[in-house]
Amino acid sequence: MICPNCNNAVILSHVTSTTEIETGETTTHYYYTCLDPRCPSYLKVINGSEEGKEAEIREKKES
Ligand SMILES: [Zn+2]
Repeated sequence: MICPNCNNAVILSHVTSTTEIETGETTTHYYYTCLDPRCPSYLKVINGSEEGKEAEIREKKES
């Protein structure tokens, strides 16, 4: 997995899986985080199953 913002390798942060009750199908989601302090995605979670989409859950932004 490569960071969509800085093209460096990212590390696996955590994995979740959801199971569809009707079909019994399990979907696994991999979440990665970037460790480059200069990167806009630094310590943000990058959703590996939807490329380029990221969810900011760790970092508090003060505006
Ligand atoms: Zn990055």
